[in-house]
Amino acid sequence: MIKSINPYTKEHVFQNKQLTKAEAVEAIEVAYERFLSWRKTTFAERASLMRAAADELKTNKEDYATTITLEMGKPIKQAVAEVEKCAWVCEYYAQNAQTQLAPKTITTDATESYVSYEPLGVVLAVMPWNYPFWQVFRFAAPALMAGNVALLKHASNVMESAMNIQRVFERAGFPKSCFTNLPLRSDKIEGIIKNPRVKAVTLTGSKPAGSAVAATAGSEIKKSVLELGGSNALVVFEDCNMDETIKTAVQARFQNTGQSCIAGKRLLLHKDIAEEFTQKFVAKVKELQSGDPMDENTFIGVMAREDLAEELEEQLKSSVRQGAKILTGGTRKKAYFEPTVVTNVTTKMALFKEETFGPVIGITTFKNEDEAIHLANYTDFGLGVSVFTEDKERARKLVPLFDDGAVFINELVKSDPRLPFGGTKISGYGRELSEDGIKEFVNKKTVYFN
Ligand code: NDP
Repeated sequence: MIKSINPYTKEHVFQNKQLTKAEAVEAIEVAYERFLSWRKTTFAERASLMRAAADELKTNKEDYATTITLEMGKPIKQAVAEVEKCAWVCEYYAQNAQTQLAPKTITTDATESYVSYEPLGVVLAVMPWNYPFWQVFRFAAPALMAGNVALLKHASNVMESAMNIQRVFERAGFPKSCFTNLPLRSDKIEGIIKNPRVKAVTLTGSKPAGSAVAATAGSEIKKSVLELGGSNALVVFEDCNMDETIKTAVQARFQNTGQSCIAGKRLLLHKDIAEEFTQKFVAKVKELQSGDPMDENTFIGVMAREDLAEELEEQLKSSVRQGAKILTGGTRKKAYFEPTVVTNVTTKMALFKEETFGPVIGITTFKNEDEAIHLANYTDFGLGVSVFTEDKERARKLVPLFDDGAVFINELVKSDPRLPFGGTKISGYGRELSEDGIKEFVNKKTVYFN
């Protein structure tokens, strides 16, 4: 049995039986059989089902959101917003997949030559608990629209949400086994990737998980996409709009109780505004409402698991031992972590060097643009960076100097179905969303007529 424990109440809320090896192999075989017919469907047929999935999500968003909240402690309002965003990505690919995958004619000495974008087959997704619906839908919508079929190995603490996602596709009318949830623990995943029917794998999660999955995929010469952690900087220049920047920075760090790969985790402030900014920022953070995740007014829920909160506490404590100073927050009670702002953070501290996956933000100051760029890039991660300045030309000039997969000016780094999403360095490789995302799991087939 794989059990979900509500991190707020500590109650055992759901349980799912793990598949046996034979059941998992059988499910993969059936998925492969489904692929053989699904690949022949038209874009119009797939789009109609994908729109039905969007409708199903919108119609039952409260139910799906409630399960998310019970399983991993996300405040209910944010869980509903997550389900709505999933409907958006389904509609986006229903609308755009055919154009994105239209054959591309290339003039050569052939009578006709072109690139045809064709599905790979059975694709496995290994997914995390922080956005239990969104992370899956942003993979599944393009994969299915491209003519692939999907297998899901979800995080062990959100197995009921995983079942619900399969239910969404079934209720929408997708043929059985286009999308298959495999209730399995991670030690079974190597065998799944090695199954000859599985052609590719995508993982969102930590570096160790990504590294393990990519190593197996590599040994089997199978395509992989990795979307791993991040340690995004929020780079605040002296000419920013301070009030707007503070609002955005609070959202960037504290939404989803800080458990997001693209959260702004390192606050880099120009020395001339650091004092005033810090004072106002701390005041805003103190206003954030913590409480029962099922309460509509709660903004900070609990972290998804107590061990994750303990890990964050250790990162905070070790940074304080090295001289960091807590301005607000700093206490943990089981899986609840108080929204915390820490200053005097240096590059040697865990709060700067490591990914902090919870409601804690560290402040570091800089003197000039060069130092700001140096600090922003001084991390093993490379998911995204936010730059705050009223001078657009200055921002434009700085964009190429950041190592990351995304630079957002006067905005928090966010995912949008229309834009590519992914990282550099140990944040992973490959892209999700947009045309780039749908082209990750296709065979770019060269066709040549003599
Ligand atoms: P993991 O990376 O361990 O979990 C993510 C997914 O990978 C889960 O489905 C997990 O399954 C699976 N998994 C883990 N190890 C393996 C493996 N060796 N082979 C195959 N699958 C594997 O994340 P955690 O829950 O442990 O969180 C730890 C840290 O990871 C966080 O603090 C954060 O830093 C980072 N993280 C980043 C996320 C992101 O959005 N980029 C999302 C979540 C976490 P199972 O649950 O069964 O172990």
